[in-house]
Parts: sequence; structure tokens; C-alpha cells
Amino acid sequence: MSSSDKFRRFELGNDSASRVNVSFEFFPPKTEKMEASLWNAVKRLEPLNPAFVSVTYGAGGSTRERTHRTVERMIRETSLRPAAHLTCVGASREEIDEVIRSYHELGVRHIVALRGDPQEGIGAIYKPHPQGYAYAGDLVAGIHRISPDMEVSVSAYPERHPESADWQTEIDNLKRKIDAGATRAITQYFFDNDLFETFLEKVRAAGITIPVVPGILPIVNFETTMVFSAKCGTSIPHWLAHRFSGLDEDAETRKLVASAVACEQVLDLVDRGVTDFHFYTMNRSELTLAICRMLGLVPAPVEQQAA
Ligand code: FAD
Repeated sequence: MSSSDKFRRFELGNDSASRVNVSFEFFPPKTEKMEASLWNAVKRLEPLNPAFVSVTYGAGGSTRERTHRTVERMIRETSLRPAAHLTCVGASREEIDEVIRSYHELGVRHIVALRGDPQEGIGAIYKPHPQGYAYAGDLVAGIHRISPDMEVSVSAYPERHPESADWQTEIDNLKRKIDAGATRAITQYFFDNDLFETFLEKVRAAGITIPVVPGILPIVNFETTMVFSAKCGTSIPHWLAHRFSGLDEDAETRKLVASAVACEQVLDLVDRGVTDFHFYTMNRSELTLAICRMLGLVPAPVEQQAA
């Protein structure tokens, strides 16, 4: 493919643009300032008409009310289709079931079902709540029992979940979640597309056919990303560290590099046949907007948005 062919694929409004689906992840804000930043990002990303947006659930269930409030406001004030994240940690089945029912009453029809990390933090030994759902697979089954019309997405790990002893355990777990009713997997973020492709081959070889949507993290802060990646099992390639080296005091160049890195990643994934992307926005819009533009996605004209 010549480079001009490659770029023509992403011309505004052409067919290839309509083949790309995006979704955006946000987290519930803690402070008024963070609240303003979240809603600014939501409003700027809304015109890209994402397939859905999702709102995370704080570690240990710490944001239950805030997640609910954020999802509620999205339903009330936007045209977006919100998915609420829900974890098993720190709550009984009855309590979780109540949360599922309240989302259903609110009109939410999509939950991202997760086990969650131990309340003591990532790396601590996970102990299920004695009366709770133990793992994500159990939670998916619970959601389907209570709300059979709820769409359920689950996690997947191109570099394996740190607690899975081997690939068989990892893939068996993903299968269990699908057998319980999950219809989409969203991956942990990764920076090496070969790892994603190899993972996808393993998933398909195991007979799993549901969409596996790559989670893309535009890097807002490289230091924080390194620390979190070490905990959650995402590897940082040498070339990536090299690109960000020496930029600690240079926010402007950092942002340009972050945009270039993520654009390069998604365009390479498109070349490998990927059509759906989930962006970890960190409640910011600039990088995600720029990357979506490179995917050919631009806001619809105002008159079309209203129609
Ligand atoms: P599971 O799929 O249940 O698997 C976790 C581990 O347990 C795996 O190693 C699996 O092999 C093992 N396992 C599964 N079943 C059993 C069993 N029956 N017996 C023994 N071992 C078993 N965290 C939050 O707190 N809030 C969020 O909003 C959030 N959103 C996320 C969104 C995405 C897309 C991703 C990828 C992760 C998210 N996380 C979130 C992080 C997630 O909660 C952690 O990675 C957590 O450690 C695992 O959750 P899981 O749903 O992947 O667990």
C-alpha cells in the first residue's frame, strides 16, 4: 500500500471512517475542579458519536455513588450511551444486586463487569467478600439473572492478568465470562501491538468469537504510566521509554509525542484489521480527539447532531 493510499483510507466522511467505532472511558471526579474537567471532556468527545462511554468504579467500590451520579448525569444531559463499571470487591451479592437494579431503573443497559483489585491495592492477595460475587464470571452471571437485557462487557489481558498462572488459565477465565453472558471484551492497555495480535490469535484459536476491543491509553504522564504499568502487568517497550526520556520538564513536547505514539499505535492496529477502539481518556479530551481525527472521525456538523 502506498502512503497516499494509506492516508486516503482516513479521509473525512469516507467509508473507512464509518467502519471505525470508538468508545471512551471516564472516571468519576472527586473534586469540583475534576468535575469541570470531566464534563468538558465529555462535551468535547460527545460529537464523535462513540458507540458507548464507560464510567469506572473506584477500587474497593469506593466510588459507588459517584459512578452512579456520573452515569445518571450522562443519561440526563447527553446523547451518550453510558456503560457503568461494577466490581465484586467489598460488597455482598445483595448490595451488588441492588446496584444492578438501580442502574436498570435508571435506563442503563450496559455494564462492564469486573472482579476488581483488593481493597489494600494491586498486588495484595485477593480475598472475595464472604457473601459476595467472587470473580468477574460470577458477577456476569448475576447481572444476567437480574437484568437479562443488560449488555455485559468484561476485561481481557493481552499480557495476561498478573494472577493467572499461565495462558490456559487466562483464556479459560475469559471463556467462563463469555459463557456467563459477556458479549464484548475490552483489553487492558498495551503498547506493543504484536502482543495484542498474538493474544487475539490465542483467543480465536480457543473458539472465542466475541469482539475483543483494544484499550488504548494516550499517555498523559509517562512517569505515572510506568508505575501503574508495573503493577498491572503492561510492559513498557524500550523505544517508548526512549521517546519520553528527558521530557519531564517539557509538557508541550510530551503531549505531541504522546499524540504521535498513540496515533501510530491505532493506525497500525487498523492496518492489522482492528475496527473498534476503547480509549482510556483520563477525563481529558485533547489526545483522544486528535487520535480520533487520525482515524477519520470528526464531529458531525451541528445540524446533523441535532437530527
Ligand atoms: P477476573 O476476570 O475475575 O480475573 C482475575 C484473576 O482471577 C485472573 O487471574 C483469573 O484467572 C482469576 N480467576 C478468575 N476466576 C477464578 C476462580 N474461579 N478461581 C480462581 N481464580 C480465578 N478495576 C476497578 O476497580 N474498577 C474499574 O472500573 C475497572 N475497570 C477496568 C476496565 C478494564 C477494561 C480492565 C481491563 C480492567 C479494569 N479494572 C477496574 C481492573 C480490574 O478490576 C483488575 O485488573 C482486577 O485485578 C481483575 O479484574 P477482572 O475483572 O479482570 O477479574
